[in-house]
Amino acid sequence: MASDTILIRDSAILTAAGWVQPGYVLVQGSSIATIGESEPPQTVVAQTGTVLSAQNSAVLPGLINGHTHLSQTFMRGLAGGRGLITWLKDVVWPMPAAIIPDEFYLAALIGLVENLCCGVTEVVNHHKLTRTRRHTDAMLDAVEVSGLRVTVARAWSDLGESAESEQVIIQDLEERFQTWHSHPRISFANGPLALWRCSAAMLIQTHALARQYRRTTHLHVSESADEAVMSKQRYDVRPVLWLYDLGILDTNVDVVHAVWVNKNELMVLSETGARVVHCLVSNAVLGSGIAPLNDMVALGVPVRLGTDGPASNDNQDLFETLKTAVVLARATVCDPQVLPPGTALRLATGGRVLATQAPADIVVVNLDHANAVPVHDITSALVLANYGARVESVIVDGRLLLKEGRLLTLDESALREACRVAAAHLRQRAF
Ligand SMILES: [Zn+2]
Repeated sequence: MASDTILIRDSAILTAAGWVQPGYVLVQGSSIATIGESEPPQTVVAQTGTVLSAQNSAVLPGLINGHTHLSQTFMRGLAGGRGLITWLKDVVWPMPAAIIPDEFYLAALIGLVENLCCGVTEVVNHHKLTRTRRHTDAMLDAVEVSGLRVTVARAWSDLGESAESEQVIIQDLEERFQTWHSHPRISFANGPLALWRCSAAMLIQTHALARQYRRTTHLHVSESADEAVMSKQRYDVRPVLWLYDLGILDTNVDVVHAVWVNKNELMVLSETGARVVHCLVSNAVLGSGIAPLNDMVALGVPVRLGTDGPASNDNQDLFETLKTAVVLARATVCDPQVLPPGTALRLATGGRVLATQAPADIVVVNLDHANAVPVHDITSALVLANYGARVESVIVDGRLLLKEGRLLTLDESALREACRVAAAHLRQRAF
């Protein structure tokens, strides 16, 4: 067996049949070769390049962070009690206006490391910093170095401040779709910023382009109550219904937030198969409200979880988001039976399980710590007791990136120091 094999043994493995415990997973190349119960055969152990002994651990598919903004990593802690629109004008717009590509590289890289160390193997980065190619290239360099699986939703607006021309938007999207079409870990998506900053014609045109390349459209919708009011004033219809009227709500669309949606809009989301990305911690930090997750799940709306950018969260810990999703969903309807841990975990993993031939995107979570012991129910321990998740090891596309708590791809201490220095310089220039 070659050196690119990784064996995880002596742990609980999440499969389609539930937890296999104890069990083992053998990774070969970029996919899972074998999953077995109890002890792996000695011949396998002897010929495996890397063996991870993971007693008292859970082995599961990597989590998916369905929405973040890596450009905001240097903006943590600056929300300062502002609501959405004030926060955008005071914090989120000035800092990107000042950031240089080298700083953006560091911000993106430490944001990706944060995701990785929190058990995320796949990130959707709604990429707003598009004003020069060097900024986008710097972010892509960070993605390459991180080893994570990333979809870059290329943000754009053609209305209002910092609007881009139709020609620039279309050309850049098309070029990115073509260039990154066959990369094993990196792809591009269409990322309109928000309904109030995008014209109907461009929403229709870019969504058609994305579909032509089998890519998604990923946009903020109804994050705050103000947006629903604006939509009514401008289009005489609520935001989700406006998108439906434009003909762009379908299974290729990520509706990010959907906090202020009524029953009718929920029905439309359900009928069209559009996916909601639920960014509940960010929504709560900005005082935007609580999206009706229970109704979405009950209606069969596909839902993923997202942290949103660090400027509004202020972290990218998807395990924290996962637990908060459960407790908020129960608190809002005074019912402890809604959103059981297994259902919630599927929102965070995209419904995936570990299986032979599946891509080797795997996380090993240590449950042998005071927060979790005793573990009566592994899923419950992961979702509800896993405070400050002890993510021990992470594999993406068959490559071991985090091994027993240590990053293998870069010097994290040096990265943190470089980020501290760069962020201080940036802040001086931005404000
Ligand atoms: Zn966002």
